[in-house]
Amino acid sequence: KEEILGDKHKKQVGIMGGTFNPPHLGHLIIAESVGSQLGLDKILFMPDATPPHQTPKTAIAAKHRVAMVQRAITGNEHFALETAEVKRGGISYSYDTMMTLKQQHPDTDYYFIIGADMVADLPNWHRIDELTKMVQFVGVKRPGYSVQSRYPILWVDAPLMAISSTMIRRRVQMGCSIRYLVPEAVIDYIEKEGLYRDQK
Ligand code: ATP
Ligand code: MG
Repeated sequence: KEEILGDKHKKQVGIMGGTFNPPHLGHLIIAESVGSQLGLDKILFMPDATPPHQTPKTAIAAKHRVAMVQRAITGNEHFALETAEVKRGGISYSYDTMMTLKQQHPDTDYYFIIGADMVADLPNWHRIDELTKMVQFVGVKRPGYSVQSRYPILWVDAPLMAISSTMIRRRVQMGCSIRYLVPEAVIDYIEKEGLYRDQK
């Protein structure tokens, strides 16, 4: 069942922003669930350069995260890579990014997909009141986080998954399997590049 929310004459595009350090099945499953339930034309996976809430050292180089996202989304014709933030560099404020994207694509309605941990963090976002008027935030539940918010969130049901990039990094560091948690093409890349082995 598909439901078109916005202006039918405009393109309906989801934005799946994140650090993707690394991308995992949780990211892919929530993007697919939201896209099919809202009838979105496309979902853009957008790795950040430096997220506002992390120190630059937390994440590995953007080129690796971009390469992994590219591998993770290959084969899904509704998914695409958006490199606006890594190309811009610096701290990635979603407000700046969405201003630019909306100016470049006035014929598009944007749906900004976030997990419940990010919904809880929205009060700290740069120019959040303006941002909520520019995009429709779509919330997806995440174990351990509330679904309460003072902002207009469209909650969409998706399988509840206790998978995080933090957990994936730890498992690689400990030498545990990440099979079925991360797409195989991304596992191959992590192994080939020797990522996450030496992280604390
Ligand atoms: P980390 O543990 O490093 O923070 P993460 O798994 O939270 O990684 P991010 O790249 O930080 O991944 O998240 C990108 C977006 O995906 C965020 O909006 C986050 O809330 C959402 N997200 C990630 N994993 C899940 C999940 N298992 N369920 C719902 N939302 C998720
Ligand atoms: Mg996170």
